[in-house]
Amino acid sequence: PSQVDLRQPVDAAIKIINAQDGMERIAIDWQRPPEPAMVHGDLIRIEQVMVNLLSNAVQAVEAVAEPRISVQIEERGQQLLCRVQDNGPGLPANTEQIFEPFFTTKSMKQGLGLGLSISRQIMDALGGSLVGHNRADQHGAEFVLSFQTRA
Ligand code: ADP
Ligand code: MG
Repeated sequence: PSQVDLRQPVDAAIKIINAQDGMERIAIDWQRPPEPAMVHGDLIRIEQVMVNLLSNAVQAVEAVAEPRISVQIEERGQQLLCRVQDNGPGLPANTEQIFEPFFTTKSMKQGLGLGLSISRQIMDALGGSLVGHNRADQHGAEFVLSFQTRA
């Protein structure tokens, strides 16, 4: 792992997700910063985390009348935060349980329950973190990735 411009794995993950069936009706609002957002990490692993979070968000908004997903980056001291928000039904009651391997509320076809546990492992290994909570302002979930800006 070294330095990567966080905009790159976000761009790549959104492109992958937007190529999936059914994405015509789901807008991903990516508030892409005009300047590079350098973080400690590597492109492929961060892309994998982003794909996991975005595919969860897509599945969460599938039954919503006006589905909306947003991705934004913000500075927080020595860290960069990346927020992935959706307007789906929100998280199951025990919000820590969702990070356990094989925890899923989906049918077998839709998910094995590994995405969040792997994503958290990846973020921990990079010296960052991944948390999830329900949004205060409206329905839906928010996942917050925290990255170190230097090694
Ligand atoms: P999977 O997607 O295979 O179920 P994950 O580890 O990605 O496994 O997610 C575990 C569980 O966390 C999901 O089954 C779901 O209950 C919950 N979850 C994850 N993301 C969201 C989200 N954006 N909105 C609501 N629930 C979510
Ligand atoms: Mg998943």
